[in-house]
Amino acid sequence: MLGTKAKEKKGVYENVVHQFDKAAKYMKLDENIKKILATTMNEILVHFPVKMDNGQVEIFTGYRVQHNNALGPFKGGLRFHPAVDIDEVRALATWMTWKCAITDIPFGGAKGGIQMDPSKYSASEIERITRRFTFALANNIGPEYDIPAPDVNTNAKIMAWILDTYLSMVPPHERKRCIHVVTGKPVEVGGSPGRDKATGQGVVFLIEQWAKDNKFDLSNATYTVQGFGNVGSWASRLLKPFGSKLIAVEDVTGAIYNSDGIDPDKLTEYVQKYGGVHGFEGCESIDHDTFLSTEADIFIPAALENQITAKTADSINVKLVAEGANGPTDPDGDDILAKKGIVILPDILCNAGGVVVSYFEWLQNKRSESWELAEVDKKLHKKLVNAYKSVTEQAKKYNTDLRTAAYIVALSKLEMAYKERGIFP
Ligand code: GLU
Repeated sequence: MLGTKAKEKKGVYENVVHQFDKAAKYMKLDENIKKILATTMNEILVHFPVKMDNGQVEIFTGYRVQHNNALGPFKGGLRFHPAVDIDEVRALATWMTWKCAITDIPFGGAKGGIQMDPSKYSASEIERITRRFTFALANNIGPEYDIPAPDVNTNAKIMAWILDTYLSMVPPHERKRCIHVVTGKPVEVGGSPGRDKATGQGVVFLIEQWAKDNKFDLSNATYTVQGFGNVGSWASRLLKPFGSKLIAVEDVTGAIYNSDGIDPDKLTEYVQKYGGVHGFEGCESIDHDTFLSTEADIFIPAALENQITAKTADSINVKLVAEGANGPTDPDGDDILAKKGIVILPDILCNAGGVVVSYFEWLQNKRSESWELAEVDKKLHKKLVNAYKSVTEQAKKYNTDLRTAAYIVALSKLEMAYKERGIFP
């Protein structure tokens, strides 16, 4: 199961280095710029105390890694998970830089989180942990400097606590100008319509574009999804209207299968009620290996890193892997899937919908505007289709896979920015 796999994970940053080196070689990235981009700019580690419901104090460890801000303020989510450590956060921060460059939004990359299992804490404990973490980060975040957002196990409610805590730390007359310190907020406190579904929506826009490009009929397609949190459940639900059929789902509670199709809307309600997919009506319970080897047209990994590896990639039996998660495929996994002729829509393109709508939220806050959902969706679609086109163009030009091509798009943009600006002093 995913929970167990997460504990075994090691060296996610190694995957980033491998992907980066490969692309840098293809495009002959300037050696000096390569040195800069191969390094994270700031790494913040904080330990902070929180009073638990039983009156005892617990010490937590939190991280914020700021990889690069050549294209704009640092941007990226915060995750609450036991597997959060400096290696993982470094990798996730770096992927954010590439993601923002590929989609052409004026942000750099960052990521953070707390090493904890949120299922072990009450709602009021999570609120105090969140507020105390925000306080510990203090001026290392800011609306024009570093803007957090949701990620694994964090949501709009948590973003609202971050906002409230941050605003309490700035002088009263500046508060109004600071609501864009965090994105993915509830709509009532400055969030954007469509931000909640944005990552899943982006995954589906890209699958749709890939299908168009490859004359692939989605109306009879089958798909499997790993992880049924925000990204997995929204992608599943948004793919349904195309006539595609969800046949297997896995999350921390187990994996389920039904060849006649699983209704993603009903499954979402079930997961909200019972906390996981295990036991969903009409489905057979299957183990992790059986889940991964399920034959389908599309596999959407939407959970954690390092799921498709030397150990598992051989058993993957689909035409397209659409990476809703960050880093679900390691370099061995990439090579094996390529040999099998399986196409990967890489994470730094495929799941970029979240940060794109975060950018729209940030803009709305700065301009005191509120956009309609249809407008947000239209703008998101345009951004992602343009990004998809730049990536597929580079893939053709360099005769390479889409991940390497996506890196080339990002690295070229950053290389140009550094060449124009020069290196201080
Ligand atoms: N956590 C999301 C990601 O990995 C969203 C980041 C954001 O909106 O800043 O892309």
